[in-house]
Amino acid sequence: MNADTKQLILNLYLDQSTQFIVMLLTITTTYSPATDLGYLLHKHPERLQTFDLAFGQVHVFYPEANTEKCTAALLLDVDSVGLVRRYRGQIRENFALAEYVNDRPYVASSFMSVAIARVFNSALSGKSKERPELAETPIPLSAKLSTLPCRGGEKFLRRLFEPLGYSVEAKRYALDPQYPDWGESRYFTVTLDKICCLSELLTHLYVLIPVLDDEKHYWVDQAEIEKLLKHGSDWLSEHPEQESIVNRYLKYQRRLTRQALSQLRETDVEDVEEQMQEEAQIEERLGLHEIRLTKAIEVIKQSGAKRVLDLGCGEGKLLRKLMAEKQFEEIVGVDVSHQSLKIAQQRLHFDRLPDKQKERIKFLQGSLCYRDSRLEGYDAAAVIEVIEHLDAPRLWAFESVLFESACPQTVVLTTPNVEYNVKFENLPVGQFRHKDHRFEWTRTEFQSWASDVSKRFGYAVMFYPIGPTDEVVGSPTQMAVFTCESEDKSGLKIPSTREFGEN
Ligand code: SAH
Repeated sequence: MNADTKQLILNLYLDQSTQFIVMLLTITTTYSPATDLGYLLHKHPERLQTFDLAFGQVHVFYPEANTEKCTAALLLDVDSVGLVRRYRGQIRENFALAEYVNDRPYVASSFMSVAIARVFNSALSGKSKERPELAETPIPLSAKLSTLPCRGGEKFLRRLFEPLGYSVEAKRYALDPQYPDWGESRYFTVTLDKICCLSELLTHLYVLIPVLDDEKHYWVDQAEIEKLLKHGSDWLSEHPEQESIVNRYLKYQRRLTRQALSQLRETDVEDVEEQMQEEAQIEERLGLHEIRLTKAIEVIKQSGAKRVLDLGCGEGKLLRKLMAEKQFEEIVGVDVSHQSLKIAQQRLHFDRLPDKQKERIKFLQGSLCYRDSRLEGYDAAAVIEVIEHLDAPRLWAFESVLFESACPQTVVLTTPNVEYNVKFENLPVGQFRHKDHRFEWTRTEFQSWASDVSKRFGYAVMFYPIGPTDEVVGSPTQMAVFTCESEDKSGLKIPSTREFGEN
């Protein structure tokens, strides 16, 4: 690269503050030493590198690189004439001239995703030869996209990134700054901040930039489903905008979107069904599930609750028990799996229930890792054998959804006690009770998590063993009952240990 080009690129970068439109992504970290970002991206902070891609060139450089702060920039230089020749007819515009006067060279679009995958390939897949541990460590990251077209506006932009835990800052461009009456354009400068692994940030950008732009520069086919599932299966199946993301990503091709959505959900369902059977087989002899549910009902009843949530209700066993108790006037089953909810409805013969009973129960599909106003204002929530299915790094999101946003008066939560696993003869040593468990905690681990949560969110917590208790390893299931300490609007009360009875 000659000195002129280098100067040109730096000028383009510096011009961001003006209306000069530039197709630029910067990634900044304040992790110390910040220059380790160079190892994660496999690009040396002191070098300016250029890569040739089918649609133009990509330049990578570091406008700032010191131990406190390091910024890597990815600048796309799209060959607009070559582009028109190559992709004639694939860019959706209404008039022929638009092919030559389109925004493609200047905005972050699917070209940006192609560039990320090509230039930051190892970082995207979470690999780093020199810093393998850092690649898997959440670090403070800030991504800035200088010109991001957002079809659906700022609201949609936020609906895509905020559920993933980003704080989002967006500045919209005027259509023409000299003529403010012309209104606003669909272009934004967007900053996304999050403490996460670099691969997570790159993956979200890779999928969501073209989703926002809603205009792919190439034809989508079966291979796109694979790309989407490869980069999205970890987080898409729980994202509240899952359908719009898949629709837009696959360019509204109904056959492809239907297939992708069902593949996303199937993985989910297969997992759930398989895991429930596995767990049931292991715990069967103890009749543990029944004991757990009976205890949960007992606690919720004694709390005086009338309106109850069953979070992660699965196939509805607790819902059935709740329905049998007249005390409960409103019962809501929530699960991320559409299929489980369908099975729960069938098992409760929901369609055939008399109207009065039907009015008592509701089913909501949703993830417990995303804030959901539908969960607010209930007296009690049961979270039975669910937290161990959540990724440990997402637990903070669950904590805030349940204890800060939904904030029920009473929470009854159970999870396996891993110490007890040695007593299950058919469970190989060191293995969890089933495949989908992301963790299983000892009593100390569970109690320290629950105590910390209760302190942070203003709850009191009590612990109860569930199932036959062994002197050394304790009981197979552990239960925590949280009671909100803030002003008790409902006047409900929590049972004392004696009332509840110990095992
Ligand atoms: N509570 C039920 C089911 C436990 S299995 C019972 O005791 O029988 C765990 C359940 O949690 C599954 O139905 C699964 O779909 C659900 N689940 C897993 N992750 C979830 C999430 N993020 N949000 C909501 N539900 C989730």
